[in-house]
Amino acid sequence: MRDCVFCQILAGEVEASIVYRDERVTAFMDIQPLTPGHLLVIPNQHASSLKSVEPDTMSRMAVIGQMLGLALLESSLAPQAFNLFLANGELAGQTVFHSHLHVIPRYPDDGFGVRFPPGFGRIAERGELDEQAEVVRAALPPEHV
Ligand code: AMP
Ligand code: ZN
Repeated sequence: MRDCVFCQILAGEVEASIVYRDERVTAFMDIQPLTPGHLLVIPNQHASSLKSVEPDTMSRMAVIGQMLGLALLESSLAPQAFNLFLANGELAGQTVFHSHLHVIPRYPDDGFGVRFPPGFGRIAERGELDEQAEVVRAALPPEHV
């Protein structure tokens, strides 16, 4: 994809601080780190959303995200924890439309966090949860039913 900045990084046309690369995925430092050591794991093949990421590539993104998060914990950056985060779609916060998994190291008082919606904390009724479970089950691909 000519106009995709992550494809340009993969092609070596845009500079990046690459940490890891294999035949399916590449990981590099985020240019606007939320916290020190913030990394992105991306598929080597362009995919604007998870709809077009092959399952084996998705698995590799997850495994490499795990490996990098654990490596960060052992590193001299010395975070105490990490978040794995993936925004799929604009409303979810996706701004670069080449799918990517964030690995966000966490430090005490780092200022990063997840904002909960107003009214959060209510325990949902079982009937409502069962209904929604049925709606989701009805949308599963045939091989997973
Ligand atoms: P998202 O909002 O989940 O789509 O995240 C996109 C991420 O890509 C942001 O954290 C950006 O800082 C990061 N980003 C954008 N351009 C570059 C770049 N050239 N090199 C590294 N990270 C980038
Ligand atoms: Zn791309």
